Amino acid sequence: MAAQTYRITLLSGDGIGPEIMTVAVAVLKAVGQQFDLNFEFQEALMGGAAIDAAGEPLPAETLEACRNSDAVLLAAIGGYKWDALPRHLRPETGLLGLRAGLGLFANLRPAKILPQLIDASSLKREVVEGVDIMVVRELTGGVYFGQPKGIFTTETGEKRGVNTMAYTESEIDRIGRVAFEAARKRGSRLCSVDKANVLEVSQLWRDRITQLATEYADVELSHLYVDNAAMQLVRAPKQFDTIVTGNLFGDILSDAAAMLTGSIGMLPSASLGASGPGVFEPVHGSAPDIAGQDKANPLAQVLSAAMLLRYGLNQSAAADQVEQAVLTVLDQGYRTGDIMASGCQAVGTQAMGEALLRALEQPVQ
Ligand code: NAD
Repeated sequence: MAAQTYRITLLSGDGIGPEIMTVAVAVLKAVGQQFDLNFEFQEALMGGAAIDAAGEPLPAETLEACRNSDAVLLAAIGGYKWDALPRHLRPETGLLGLRAGLGLFANLRPAKILPQLIDASSLKREVVEGVDIMVVRELTGGVYFGQPKGIFTTETGEKRGVNTMAYTESEIDRIGRVAFEAARKRGSRLCSVDKANVLEVSQLWRDRITQLATEYADVELSHLYVDNAAMQLVRAPKQFDTIVTGNLFGDILSDAAAMLTGSIGMLPSASLGASGPGVFEPVHGSAPDIAGQDKANPLAQVLSAAMLLRYGLNQSAAADQVEQAVLTVLDQGYRTGDIMASGCQAVGTQAMGEALLRALEQPVQ
């Protein structure tokens, strides 16, 4: 049978982006050979690299290349050099444009404690052991996009900053469905997080999610206010299976959930739309403080490539193989600086990549 061909757009971005992308691409090529998958990789500019080369963080040809691909693998964007630019020219604006341009309304962020890295968590072993949470965050609505927004001048000449938190029923329903489906594939428990005691937009959110639950009788639904959810995440995180929430609350809670696992260098994410390519990227930023020094942990990028295989291309056996290779190198004691522990072997980005390729050559059966 002819190899299946997939077109993958690579957005290496800034800082450590190119270093960790190199590792992930080598891993994808290796696993592709094993599973008879043929990847056509195309590089495109985004973030600071695009600002320098083309004067804008998301050039039209980059968005077009992404639209015409089966999946997008993004590393990280941003850095000190571009921090002082006006908002429309900031690297992050490119990220928002990419999400909006591809209609990526659902952000899936797993936060799973790996047994090899329990001691990297700042919480006690008994609190975090076994934590396996999926945060489903709405990505293209809510207060980050609602109108009106801006800094206006009042009649008295005072400046007034305005953002609007708004969700329509259909926006809530579509993210709700993604979350119920995700919960179904996991522990079948979904916790919806809002601020319905104060915000009307949250009341509508709660009403719709409650209504949707009637279609997913096999999933146990609960609700928490966001302040309580933040508290529960650090108090007793094992109570959570799948969490669904809006854009702003999800931004904050997914970072808190991420830190339960100890290192931001280990965390992948997937952003999905109704159809078309998804974007797969690590949770961390471009880490300009360690860029170009062979110090970056490439595992979040590699796990993002695994999510690309699983959620973007429906190649779950290949995804399993990549995730297993990550566990193998950790079992073998290889650690980058951010996850270093006594008795382990310190390695750089490249050496971690080589260890992964060796692990893939001799997969655990
Ligand atoms: P960051 O995630 O880049 O770095 C935070 C800390 O974690 C730093 O000490 C860094 O060295 C470390 N770190 C991050 N990733 C690592 C890895 N893979 N291996 C080892 N250590 C790692 O966050 P920041 O410092 O707040 O932001 C730096 C830049 O990244 C900013 O310009 C910011 O706007 C941008 N950023 C981009 C994204 C994205 O591309 N999605 C996300 C967050 C921040």
